[in-house]
Amino acid sequence: MGNSKLRNPVESGRICNLCGGTSFRLLHAWEPEHLRNSAAITVGFWECACKLAFLDPLPQLVQLPSNGDWWTTERKEVRRNVSFKKVRERLQNLVFGTPEARLIQQTRQLVPTGRLLDIGCGTGKLLEQARPYFQCHGLEPSEYAATEVRSRGFRVIQATLEDAPLESDDKYTVVTMDSVLEHLTDPVGTLVKINRLIPLGGVVVIKVPKLWGPTHQSLGREWNGFRVGYHTIMFSGQTLANVLRATGFEPTRRPRRDRPFDDILIMWGRKVAELPADPEALAKTIARRRAA
Ligand SMILES: [Zn+2]
Repeated sequence: MGNSKLRNPVESGRICNLCGGTSFRLLHAWEPEHLRNSAAITVGFWECACKLAFLDPLPQLVQLPSNGDWWTTERKEVRRNVSFKKVRERLQNLVFGTPEARLIQQTRQLVPTGRLLDIGCGTGKLLEQARPYFQCHGLEPSEYAATEVRSRGFRVIQATLEDAPLESDDKYTVVTMDSVLEHLTDPVGTLVKINRLIPLGGVVVIKVPKLWGPTHQSLGREWNGFRVGYHTIMFSGQTLANVLRATGFEPTRRPRRDRPFDDILIMWGRKVAELPADPEALAKTIARRRAA
């Protein structure tokens, strides 16, 4: 097994997406044979000195089942205590509402109504909850998922955020990303794009698995939050707040889900600053906001 030894990402010229630094330590590694590794290569999660964690090397699409389509049934998925988890989930949903319903109700504490864009809308669970209160649009690269959501009457653009034909004068008062940001390689660039889609005072909502939550701490690399091969960036409350601040948002104190016992992190960021269009001025602004 020639590739079982991982090389520090510095050697391939990688720099931290958040701080631009190059001081990385290995958190976990998974060989291709590992039960949770969907990729055909050894991959690792690395942590920058600024605490942002990222996958390296990044598997190419051909090294993932069905060319990386998240909706494939061929990716490795190991579940623990399925029946216990299912029962607990059902009870929680009964008492508190589904996670999607709660996310929308909490978001409405900040923005009660308006236009909402759900990036990576999947099969439309969140859009369904938002529909009574917001004019809803979805963005979804998977043809399977996009077709499914359209059939229920939603307007869905089948594209990634990179390729989407979104007009920046067509503002959204709320932009949601439920379980999406951890799949992308450029969270700062993504939040810059989202900033331009939101008016001042509008809100971005981000839900991601939480690095250093209790299950990660107890299971280490066996934690299924890594979705090995698919999740490319992982956040703690601190690093996600830093990404938000760097890109012109202020994380709200309430609502916010970042308690010590949470394995899932949800953060609401209110847009407090416009970002310059000129790339050089933009880089300076991000660096200044990051340091503040
Ligand atoms: Zn960093």
